[in-house]
Amino acid sequence: MIPIAVQGASRERKRQRPKGRQVDAAALQQVQALLGDLPRRRDLLIEFLHLIQDAYGCLSAAHLAALASELRLAQVEVFEVASFYHHFDIVREGELVPPALTVRVCDGLSCEMAGAGELLARLPALLGREVRVVSAPCIGRCDQAPAALVGQLAIGLASSERVSEAVAAAARGHATPPGDAVASGDAGMFAMLDECLSGARSVDAVIAELEDSGLRGLGGAGFPAGRKWRIVRNEPGPRLMAVNIDEGEPGTFKDRYYLERNPRQFIEGMLIAAWAVGIDEIYIYLRDEYHDCRKLLQQELARLGPGKIRVQLRRGAGAYICGEESAMIESIEGKRGMPRLRPPYVAQAGLFGRPTLEHNFETLYWVPEILAKGAAWFASHGRHGRKGLRSFSVSGRVKQPGVKLAPAGITVQELIDEYCGGMLDGHQLYAYLPGGASGGILPASMNNIPLDFDTLQPYGCFIGSAAIIVLSQHDSARAAASNMMRFFRHESCGQCTPCRVGTAKAAALIESPVWDAGLLGELSQVMRDASICGLGQAAPNPVDCVLKYFPHEVTR
Ligand code: SF4
Repeated sequence: MIPIAVQGASRERKRQRPKGRQVDAAALQQVQALLGDLPRRRDLLIEFLHLIQDAYGCLSAAHLAALASELRLAQVEVFEVASFYHHFDIVREGELVPPALTVRVCDGLSCEMAGAGELLARLPALLGREVRVVSAPCIGRCDQAPAALVGQLAIGLASSERVSEAVAAAARGHATPPGDAVASGDAGMFAMLDECLSGARSVDAVIAELEDSGLRGLGGAGFPAGRKWRIVRNEPGPRLMAVNIDEGEPGTFKDRYYLERNPRQFIEGMLIAAWAVGIDEIYIYLRDEYHDCRKLLQQELARLGPGKIRVQLRRGAGAYICGEESAMIESIEGKRGMPRLRPPYVAQAGLFGRPTLEHNFETLYWVPEILAKGAAWFASHGRHGRKGLRSFSVSGRVKQPGVKLAPAGITVQELIDEYCGGMLDGHQLYAYLPGGASGGILPASMNNIPLDFDTLQPYGCFIGSAAIIVLSQHDSARAAASNMMRFFRHESCGQCTPCRVGTAKAAALIESPVWDAGLLGELSQVMRDASICGLGQAAPNPVDCVLKYFPHEVTR
């Protein structure tokens, strides 16, 4: 038993010294210098974490405590956000500071098929201890597989030599050469927006044109764009817009492709949507891996000058789940990117609790062109009974991978033959993924299914963001499913048990030489029925497809 007097002294000491980690004066000064006169707002937390990590190469515990103090947040709130995102490196006392330069080698399916594994094995010895080499989920360059990031510089067709050269350039201080995709021209050239603002086109006419065109959300969900505008417009103001350029679905790179080539068409579409729906403020959420695109967008947004609508560009931090609309909204609010339960839907209570128009980049990209050429132009494209145009991100064993603008409803065989120059020499079509990691895997015998929203569900698949990964007789559907399930295990936000535990369990089960089809089937059903969001619900798709369409592969 402790004597009363000693207990009193202990309480006294506690009073003198607050609980928990103390804020270091030097760290606080450094954080204050970095933040300058930026508003100390909670929703800017991830931006502030980037500022610190960019300046110091990592997030020290002292800096996190100082940031919490500066934002008047509990330290745990800052720590939980910093530790959620893969691109933040937290360093506690006694831990080694990571090397100044990190090389991220993409281990997504297309890159794995193109030799990312060998590259990952070779690079550490080649680059030495001064450089950290890690694997990374898809970095949105599947058409240039294998791809890598040296710091923030993207390297396509990455070889040991190309990565070594980029590392040497980084050591000389040239890690980030000026982006080669810099738009030029007159920032005022928004002809269609001008027509809208001048009253030459009414809101009702613009929304009707979109509805007639059949334009649907091109991030994966496929919700009709015009109908979404009407729904949000009917909600009470102030209304906000959140633009999703997180593009993390393995196999998808179309948003980056268009953004690099024509950022203004997207900006014009975004401003037309804001005008039609009555938006007060726009938030653009861009994935961290698209460094050059960030610079480009910053330039273009700066050229807009002060306007009625405030546009904010937010930087992701390496979390696939932030491509889910409500997770992205949480992230924009400066929190962990965990999907929300619905209802309420984001159209009613989204960003900061306000009605929110959430759109994928490409959906907005098409708006000015559809208005200029007419709804009938867009709807006149299409094959096999489908309408419209789709931007397919094609990668894998084809001669000419890339973004292919093709009619909705085209089959994979037509896409390969007419748009991709055919299969690589020595390769025949064996299987294909019609919708990235989540969209399932189909065999070559099913090469005649129209690729579009709603056409693939009967086969246990979906088109999602139209990421087509082509496999040949030299690949295996089982290995593809294994790659996908490792990805989902890595990217599960951890909020719900069926997904957090289910993805890990499935990833382990499919490493067994003989798959336990019964157990995998039960697990898949639980994940579909009880996961909160689409990640957990769709994660079983590749495994279920292997069981259904490639039964000869489940025994090794
Ligand atoms: Fe998070 Fe997965 Fe649950 Fe979605 S399904 S909320 S990603 S744990």
